[in-house]
Amino acid sequence: MKRALNFGPGPSALPLSVLQETAAEWLDFAGTGMSVLEVSHRGPDYDAVHRDAQTRLKRLLGLGDDYTVLMVGGGASTQFAAVPLNLLHPGQTADYLVTGSWAKKAYKEAQLFGTVNLAADTADASAGGAYCRVPRPEECLFTPGAAYVHLTSNNTIAGSQYAAFPQPAAPLVADMSSDLLGRPIDARAFALIYAGAQKNLGPAGATVVIIRQELLERCRSGIPTMLHYPTLAKAESLHNTPPCFAIYLMAKVFKWVEAQGGVEGMGRRNQQKADVLYGAIDRHAGFYRAPVDKDSRSTMNVVFRLPSEALEQRFVSEAKAQAMVGLKGHRSVGGIRASIYNGVEPAWVEALASFMEQFARQHG
Ligand code: PMP
Repeated sequence: MKRALNFGPGPSALPLSVLQETAAEWLDFAGTGMSVLEVSHRGPDYDAVHRDAQTRLKRLLGLGDDYTVLMVGGGASTQFAAVPLNLLHPGQTADYLVTGSWAKKAYKEAQLFGTVNLAADTADASAGGAYCRVPRPEECLFTPGAAYVHLTSNNTIAGSQYAAFPQPAAPLVADMSSDLLGRPIDARAFALIYAGAQKNLGPAGATVVIIRQELLERCRSGIPTMLHYPTLAKAESLHNTPPCFAIYLMAKVFKWVEAQGGVEGMGRRNQQKADVLYGAIDRHAGFYRAPVDKDSRSTMNVVFRLPSEALEQRFVSEAKAQAMVGLKGHRSVGGIRASIYNGVEPAWVEALASFMEQFARQHG
């Protein structure tokens, strides 16, 4: 078997041992004589997996009984609506920090449901509206008494990430789709965290929503049932059929993260991987150009440009010939993006860095 060196932005590389374990159990899950795809979500075998996933995620984040983990479908994009529907009461304002395309989508979606304030926007007019950084604390203009403040911890497309988070008085809500479990964070500083699984957590299909109990008690009623956090929490994410297979895989990924030293271990490993790539970019600064400000650089999505689009295309196709895939930047911004989520092996990153050195020497 030849395994691709997958730098895709999501769905993305999963740990090989997780895939192998899944393959070994594929036709007979937990001695049931059925695949995990075939068993009831109300049966004891699936139930053990469901609870295991919730318990491990809370443990990894250092959270106790004052937080609830929901595991739902619909992707992170559905949470763009669910968050304001639950938390933005009539007469209140929600603050949004816009630092990239996904943050902007969350901001726009919230406008469908109530009063929303753009508390910071880091689009750089002099760079064609590109997002090259996260806001400085003094740039965040929070609304006194806001229902919540929403931010995107890692900007998957722009390649930027908060090194430290703002600390508003209002409850802090974060879309952590592309960096949850990728580094240590103080999860208790957040009232709500959500993330689509398909980057660091598992396959597409499941989304986790981690919510502080006290906020759960203040959610609005009269909203669609499947978006109503208290309903989902009361049923322990079994109000309807959950995305069982994606949850089963997430539980395995969480176990794998624990075995790698938890979020501290992942954080060290990801920082080293990022340093290898940014090192290669900076050593060839006349050839590669990193558009993101140094203090906002992401350890998950390393974005860079080459001197021309023709060279970028050549870079992507020559890398592909060496089994390195998923490197093309997002269609909205172009360039190159190497996504180096938890499942991306350090050896793959070393291979990419050597390729970058060679390519720069050849074409620089
Ligand atoms: N937020 C961020 C930060 C993302 O990177 C993505 C997907 N790449 C989304 C939200 C949307 O996620 P989904 O496709 O699960 O709706």
